[in-house]
Amino acid sequence: MTGEPMQPDTEWILSTLAELYPNPRTALHFETPFQLLIATMLSAQCTDKRVNIITQRLFPRLGGPEDFLKLPQEALEDLIRDCGLYREKARNIRETCRLLLERHGGEVPARFEDLVRLPGVGRKTANVVLANAFGIPALAVDTHVFRVANRLGLARGRTPEEVERQLTARIPRDRWIPAHHWLIYHGRNVCHARSPRCEACPLRPECAHARAQAAGTGPAAWAGERVAGGSGAGARERT
Ligand code: SF4
Repeated sequence: MTGEPMQPDTEWILSTLAELYPNPRTALHFETPFQLLIATMLSAQCTDKRVNIITQRLFPRLGGPEDFLKLPQEALEDLIRDCGLYREKARNIRETCRLLLERHGGEVPARFEDLVRLPGVGRKTANVVLANAFGIPALAVDTHVFRVANRLGLARGRTPEEVERQLTARIPRDRWIPAHHWLIYHGRNVCHARSPRCEACPLRPECAHARAQAAGTGPAAWAGERVAGGSGAGARERT
């Protein structure tokens, strides 16, 4: 006996999630990489539903970085006020638009290193844009992915970056994009933060958290239930 926790069957978990959630895609509405970048920046600590309401009135008026820059900071703040942190988001969006024009010809770059140099764009936002706007394999870790992956035992990390590293090592590259969506759906539908519905969960046979509960060690035995240092995957990124 090594004392090492039992490893869950990754393949079985992924195929079960694929059956449960056959159409994995982002809930954010967008038509262009630029729109997805803005929507993802707005979604920090805000629901996708609220972001979609805001972008529905934003995007028809503001088609690209130039349009956002023409708008004074206060006017942009008014338009995005409902999504919280609106002053900071408006500032970051305007600066990002300026840098897109200055460095990238007004286009959203399809490189992680370029994306994370934009203000308000962290690993998670960059990975969301790469995966959903460009189809480039990436696995963004938000609060749902962080929680569900740790509970299942697919990862055992204290930071989103650790969890991302472990998940991308464990999950085949061609399933990084759907795996991100599957874990989010499962976190929203079944594996809730406060009261996971383990009795009804199809993943229960392979879930480390469920096993720990059955063994009487309980959920507190599992590190990384919450993102270290804040409520979201990166203090200013979407949860
Ligand atoms: S068994 Fe419980 S803790 Fe494990 S994934 Fe399902 S809902 Fe989450």
